[in-house]
Amino acid sequence: MNHQTKVFKITSENFSDVIRECAEIIRRGGTVAIPTETVYGLGANALDPIAVNRIFHAKGRPADNPLIVHVASVEQVEQLVIEIPPKALSLIEAFWPGPLTLILKRTAIVPDITTGGLDTVAVRMPADVVARELIRISDKPIAAPSANISGRPSPTSAAHVLHDLEGRIDAVIDAGSTCIGVESTVIDMSGGKPAVLRPGYVSEQKIEEIIGEVDIGYSDHVTDVTDVVRSPGMKYTHYSPSATVLLLEGPHNLVLNKISEMYADFTCRGARVGLLVTSTGLSSLTNDIVYLGSKDEPEEVARNLFLGLRSLDERGVNIILADGSFTHEGVGAAVMNRLRKASEMIIKL
Ligand code: AMP
Ligand code: MG
Repeated sequence: MNHQTKVFKITSENFSDVIRECAEIIRRGGTVAIPTETVYGLGANALDPIAVNRIFHAKGRPADNPLIVHVASVEQVEQLVIEIPPKALSLIEAFWPGPLTLILKRTAIVPDITTGGLDTVAVRMPADVVARELIRISDKPIAAPSANISGRPSPTSAAHVLHDLEGRIDAVIDAGSTCIGVESTVIDMSGGKPAVLRPGYVSEQKIEEIIGEVDIGYSDHVTDVTDVVRSPGMKYTHYSPSATVLLLEGPHNLVLNKISEMYADFTCRGARVGLLVTSTGLSSLTNDIVYLGSKDEPEEVARNLFLGLRSLDERGVNIILADGSFTHEGVGAAVMNRLRKASEMIIKL
């Protein structure tokens, strides 16, 4: 698959023309990378197995890792699922449109390839108006995993999408940087006790305020491939740049001291070291440094995380020392989950 990827920079003036042209690509079975409030997604008609296959092929995504199907209305969900249980409906009312994905029992209309052969389907209504309009005008539910090569950090800008997928997809809609920066929370509502399968912007606490206690069905570490996993995505490496990431966790001051010490150590042995930090205090050490945001502002850290991993990679560093001393409250838990999965080693102080 090697063809020209069309880039549509969307503005208020050309909005409906771009949506119409991209909706046509979706209807014809093509692939369009779209901005959502979380990260950029690689979209195709979720009900067309050939179109969905193009997503797997472009990303190099393992066939047993199912896709999230994006919708623009609850009526659209009703076609895809056997039922929406009362608690699922409460979550929909509380959090949609927004970064919460529900796993529900699917109908036969959803092709096997979209769900990796599972009898459930993941659904979400994005808050981003570009994504929602594209779904509405194409009149198709849109399957859209993150628009990166599998295993790499998720894209938070059209430039990241093009870096990974130029020539492999039909189009990208450029709407600037995404505002949340980490993926949606995934919750299994398909029967039994609800379980969070992936932490995201919507925290467990917020979910429990609506539907009562939920199970935690994920781990921050890559699950052993022989384990039975409830969400197939859990068993694959994720979010990793080419550089080796070493994550330091513990009290802020200890982490900063350790980063300085390790920086000196590795540099002295000839490595080029990049720093991903939550303090401006270390900027005298090197220019290969990305400030993620304040350790007390997890939303800021979330927005900058994938950008930081990618930008250090592009500078050609061999090692990234990542500061994990930001708050793990709220979206901080999701950021920590992504960082741990991206890391080769976690150093606890
Ligand atoms: P991505 O779209 O790449 O951010 O990943 C979507 C995540 O949702 C992956 O971890 C999938 O394994 C998970 N997922 C999608 N559909 C299902 C499903 N039917 N059951 C369980 N997990 C799912
Ligand atoms: Mg992904």
